[in-house]
Amino acid sequence: MRPLTIIGNWKMNGSLSSNQALLAEMLSLGGSLFKRSDAKTQFGLCVPYPYLSQAQGLLKDSRIALGAQDVSDHPYGAYTGDVSAQMLGEFGCRYVIVGHSERRQYHHEGDGVVARKARAALQAGLVPIICVGETEEEHDDGKTLAVVRRQLQAVLDLLQGQIAGCLIAYEPVWAIGTGKVPTPTEAQDVHRELRLQLAKFDDEAASKVAILYGGSLKPDNARELLAMPDIDGGLVGGASLSAEEFVALCQENQ
Ligand code: PEP
Repeated sequence: MRPLTIIGNWKMNGSLSSNQALLAEMLSLGGSLFKRSDAKTQFGLCVPYPYLSQAQGLLKDSRIALGAQDVSDHPYGAYTGDVSAQMLGEFGCRYVIVGHSERRQYHHEGDGVVARKARAALQAGLVPIICVGETEEEHDDGKTLAVVRRQLQAVLDLLQGQIAGCLIAYEPVWAIGTGKVPTPTEAQDVHRELRLQLAKFDDEAASKVAILYGGSLKPDNARELLAMPDIDGGLVGGASLSAEEFVALCQENQ
């Protein structure tokens, strides 16, 4: 069985009491899956900043790594409201999402800043999860491959060989939170294209970098998507807010 990487993204959801209950339920349902040191699948949960410390404590004896949902592209300084990669590291983060479509859309983050955020994360020893994906309009206009290539290229140009330390997430914007999903073949075609683009740049990185699928991934559609040769796991939004659904996704390929 191919090892997968399953990472949840709570987005701006949760409270101290609901997080406590959700994580306790996940750990109890997952049982030995989140404890076994021989399990190959990588697990992660990206929580809102204020809950990092709480989640760090609750997950400390588990194999679910902690992550954040965004990071500053600067190391420190007069950037009110921003959080640096080093700060995330101090709270035990392994992962940080950069370039999520909600950041690109609502905070007008372009390809350049996304690449710089990924670089800042790497410099602090974190693993950036670099999101790429086309909007519905771009999809309907047949521009999917051109869009994701452009988004990935900006990162490759800045990171060069460091790309091997990143994860890529292909998240079609029209599939995020909508219940719509591309067919497994459609998603595989995009993942393959991203892999080829990585290979043109760095053959070794192309074989190492996990390319996750994200967008309405649920236990009932995951098996076929995750079976595709270039889909190495999932970035999971809504389903990571349900212990049952998240654990079921984590159990894929076990
Ligand atoms: C996401 O926010 O990264 C995501 C994939 O959301 P959802 O699973 O809810 O579509």
